[in-house]
Amino acid sequence: MAERKADKKIRDVIIIGAGCSGLAAAVYCGRFLLKTLVVGEIIGGVIITTDVVENYPGFIRLTGTELAKKLEDHARDYKSVEIREEKVLDAEKHGNIFKVTTEEGSYYGRTLIVASGTEYRKLDVPGEKELANRGVHYCALCDGAIYKDKVAAVIGGSDSAAKEALVLTQWAKKVYMVYRGEKIRPEPVNYERVMANKKIEIISSTNVTRINGSSNNVVSGISLDKPYKGSRELAVDAAFVAIGHIPLTGFAKKLGIKTNDKGEIMIDRNSRTNVPGIFASGDVVDTNFKQAITGAAEGVLAAYAAYQHVNDSKVILPTGDVHE
Ligand SMILES: Cc1cc2nc3c(=O)[nH]c(=O)nc-3n(C[C@H](O)[C@H](O)[C@H](O)COP(=O)(O)OP(=O)(O)OC[C@H]3O[C@@H](n4cnc5c(N)ncnc54)[C@H](O)[C@@H]3O)c2cc1C
Repeated sequence: MAERKADKKIRDVIIIGAGCSGLAAAVYCGRFLLKTLVVGEIIGGVIITTDVVENYPGFIRLTGTELAKKLEDHARDYKSVEIREEKVLDAEKHGNIFKVTTEEGSYYGRTLIVASGTEYRKLDVPGEKELANRGVHYCALCDGAIYKDKVAAVIGGSDSAAKEALVLTQWAKKVYMVYRGEKIRPEPVNYERVMANKKIEIISSTNVTRINGSSNNVVSGISLDKPYKGSRELAVDAAFVAIGHIPLTGFAKKLGIKTNDKGEIMIDRNSRTNVPGIFASGDVVDTNFKQAITGAAEGVLAAYAAYQHVNDSKVILPTGDVHE
């Protein structure tokens, strides 16, 4: 790995995460003329994995990638905002300054906005790891096209799971939704679409206990904890796991940021965490309803709180050669 460079400028804000929430925060940081650095591993975040977004107010229908690009372009329109596609490895507090270390270098900021989102929750059954990318997937839009005229299972019953199933019906000849609860629970509009789609069959109150592979090591079926149509084995060519997400808070915890029992960062109504100067927003925080628009709104509140903090704070420079 190339030697990491220390960028000695002190930014007003460093935003960790370049999804809907981090990018929306960046737009407002730009408007507040805050010197802002957005560091994100994947620009656009998780919304780019969905083919259609129909509930972002102001846009009747657009793809996830289009929405992300609009947010990115909007943030980049402000001269004081810089966006870097880098992975954050560590974040530390030195006096009143935060140091963020990525694979490429280190950066200093007066405030931090954590908008790092989540990672896919794993099913944690035998076969899942072994058959990853060989029939086990987590994103229908990314990997669904290879199952043209095949049979797929979506494991999960949320709105995201329903959307995954609907996406898969573009290619697959049959899609099972296997859900441990009694009734799947998408948004009503997606529920109706699932019900109207003849390719989708719901298997409820059932857990998947194993993902099975064929002799050439690709998915051949899933095992169920109770019989469906007389058998505990269901033949499928692919299993798409859509059972939720785990918040990405590794470095945040190290900074003393409080999380709840789900590992989500706890914020107040102004997107403030318990640590002065650190704000958080989006899927990573302890809100009930996680959507692109709610994440964007929390990002905006975080930007405003960061603006107030920068204006109110007397900055004590850390020792060493860090200076503006
Ligand atoms: C299949 C699916 C369909 C969906 N459909 C809809 C929909 O139709 N409408 C809707 O409103 N919502 C939808 N959602 C939910 C919506 O996508 C999320 O609520 C929203 O995008 C979350 O944005 P975020 O910025 O909080 O997190 P994310 O989009 O997850 O962004 C997190 C950012 O942090 C970065 N990151 C994480 N760790 C690090 C690190 N160590 N270093 C650097 N960067 C890091 C990531 O790379 C990314 O840039 C859907 C979700 C899924 C999974």
